This record gives sequence, C-alpha cells and structure tokens, in this order.
Amino acid sequence: MSANKNSKLALLGGKKAIPDGTIKRWPPVGEIDRKYVLKALEGPSYTYGPNCIALEKEFAAWNGNKYAILTNSGTAALHMAVAACGCGTGDEVIVPAYSWTSSVTCILHHNAIPVFVDIDYDTMNIDPAKIEAAITPKTKAILVVHLHGLAVNMEKVRKVARKHNLKIIEDACQSHGATFKDKKVGLWGDCAAFSLNHNKCLTAGEGGIFVTDNEEILNSAKMLWSFGETRKPNESRDYHAYALGWMYRSCELVASFGRAQLTKLDGYLKTQEENAMEFIENVKDIPGLIPPIVPAGHKHIWYNITMHIDAKKLGYKGKDTELRDGILKALAAEGAQCNIWQHYILPAMTVFQAQNAYGKGCPWTCPNAQKVVYNPLDYPVSQRHCDTHFGMTMPFRAPNSRKTAKMIAGAFKKVFENLGDLGL
Ligand SMILES: *Cc1c(COP(=O)(O)O)cnc(C)c1O
Repeated sequence: MSANKNSKLALLGGKKAIPDGTIKRWPPVGEIDRKYVLKALEGPSYTYGPNCIALEKEFAAWNGNKYAILTNSGTAALHMAVAACGCGTGDEVIVPAYSWTSSVTCILHHNAIPVFVDIDYDTMNIDPAKIEAAITPKTKAILVVHLHGLAVNMEKVRKVARKHNLKIIEDACQSHGATFKDKKVGLWGDCAAFSLNHNKCLTAGEGGIFVTDNEEILNSAKMLWSFGETRKPNESRDYHAYALGWMYRSCELVASFGRAQLTKLDGYLKTQEENAMEFIENVKDIPGLIPPIVPAGHKHIWYNITMHIDAKKLGYKGKDTELRDGILKALAAEGAQCNIWQHYILPAMTVFQAQNAYGKGCPWTCPNAQKVVYNPLDYPVSQRHCDTHFGMTMPFRAPNSRKTAKMIAGAFKKVFENLGDLGL
C-alpha cells in the first residue's frame, strides 16, 4: 500500500485527484451564440437560408477553400464527396482500417467498395507506404482520415494518387484547422468533409460542411445534396430529379449557432493547444504511457488526446485490453474520465464480414465489382492500436484551462505511480 495518504487511489477509497465540477462542459455558449440563434428565430424562414449561405461563405473563407456546402451531417458531406469524385458501382476506394464507421460506410452508400489499408501506430493515421499495394484496376479514389486532429502526410498520398490517377477525398471531420507543411486540411484533396457534430471542434449541434475548389465536383455534390436537382445560383428550381439525390441540407437555427461558434474557433484551437502542451509536458516521463506523437511538419489541433499504454514497459504479461481497462477505471475514479474511441477495427465489423450492406451481397456482388476479402488479421497495427489506446476529448477544450490540464496530468501520475495497488 502507498505510504502517502494523498496517493491512495480514489478507486481504493482515497481522495479524488480532480474534484467534482472541475471539468467544464463543451462547447462554451455565450452572448454571441444567443444573439445569432435568436436572430435566426425571427425568420424569415427556418429551412436552408441566409445563415446557411453565410456559414458556407465564412467557413470557406476561414479554411481557404473556394466553395463550401452546408449539410446536415459530416457523413452526408462524405457521401457527397464519394459521389462527386465519380466513385460508383464496383469502384474501389482505399481507406484506413481504423476510423469512425462512416468514414467508410459512406463508400457503401454509393455502391462502391472500401479497400482497407493498415495504419501507422505512432500517427494513428493511414500508413501512406502501404497504399500502393492496395491499388487495383478498380481503384478510383483514396479517402484519407485526418484522425484526432493530426493531418495525414499528404505529400506521400498525393504522390501515389498522381501516379495512379486517383481522386483524393479528405475526411477532416476531426481536424478543423490542422495543417501539414503549413497548409490546412481540406486543401489537399479533390474535396473534403468536415463535421459540425457536438463533439467536434466547430459545432452547430449536428451538421457538416463539404468543401472543394473544383466547380465540377461542387456541382456533382450539390445534385446529391438536394433531391437530384441541378441548379446554378442564378437558376430557379424546376423541381426535377436529374439524378438520384438525397436531402442533405441544413437549416437556419443550426447554421446560426455554427456561425456564432465559428467566430470563436481560432480561440478554441489556441486553448486546446495550450492545454494539450501543458498535459503532455507533465505526463511525458510517465513510464508505460506513450503520449501522442506529432511528426515534423504537422500542426496537431488536439481534437482528442489519444495515447497508448506500453504493457511491456510496465512488465505486464496479461492481455493489453485488461491492463488498459484497469488503468481507465482507476483514472475515472480520480475524475479523469477517458474513453476507448473504437473497440473494433473496421474490416472486422459485421457489415464487412457479412458483406451485406444493401442485402443480397450488394454492393460486393455487383456485376461491376471484383471479389474483395476482408481478413482482420491483415491489419495488425490497427488491431494493436485498438487494444492499447485510450483518449480524452472534452477536458482539454475551452472553457477548461491549463490549470485543469495540469490537474488531469496529476491524476495520471498518481494512477501510474500506484499501478501496483490495482492488482492487475
Ligand atoms: C464525426 C466523424 C464523422 C461523421 O460526422 P457526423 O457529423 O457525425 O456525420 C466522420 N468521420 C470522422 C473521422 C468523424 O470523427
């Protein structure tokens, strides 16, 4: 047992390292949010309208894109990206084996077929060195995910794409403002999707933004966005479905909240960086804990601070997941609630194992498709990451400060110094 009274783990009856009520909720909401939303409530219309158009313009300007389309989810924006890049029946799209499900199911939505590539353990992003081996004559595009706020090395991805004449789609849902070689995500590929879900660094509650600099891609995406209609800005609607379309528009109340939040985004990102630096500086020497690694040339925006546990370094011989889950329980008791983001690698999920998205084997049995096999053992790095990672999101966001970040680091030190008491 620990000699020091303050170091007795909260899980074993000691005092919590982080008192209740310390960690404040995300996102900060204040005067400007009320002003924008209440103004939108006065009308004249609640459907897609002036606030939506303004948010498209303001976000495009913020990110440096020519065009943006506001959608009702990041997933909708991803589906539009897949369609707008010409991926359809039987086409293959290369994706990382570890991400959020809809980074990949958006491909199935358009009858195309995901082909997985393993990730890099340090960056947790797709391993660009493994992309080329996954290309077949059916490959149409590479969909990269800038995970947790860290951009993929886009020079490497672009090199492969150019060589094989492939389109690039960026899933930037977690990475508003992240840069690689000083260039923001959303500016590297043919088009990109951002999310405005409550958890994301720019939120409107729910929603998404599709961005591109290519007018043709913009127009294809727009057709999917609104019932298959084709409309130029100066044309009035003729209510005709020129193609298969969805209803992916957003609305005024959501957009007005998003606009208010966008005025604060740069400030949020600054706070996240300060908090992340404070935390990492204080935990980087904890044996057995691997803090996030940021390669040279990248600016992380700390959507999430995801770490790994090194069981070997801790002399632990059991299952990685048992050690990790035991540590998380002790951290949660201290008031440092952490999360396991994804429990499964994507190729192991039922939709891919059963190959039955639309039923009857579709889209894998489409006459235009070639056979694709998903063997989870082909992605050992993704699996290892799945089993050893954990992360934290909200506690490092505004309005939380460096002081809170330091307190969280203190909880980590306490738990790791007293691992022996956990009986793992
Ligand atoms: C949140 C997220 C999405 C989906 O965005 P929604 O707005 O929830 O549809 C897609 N990809 C990644 C990596 C995400 O984090």
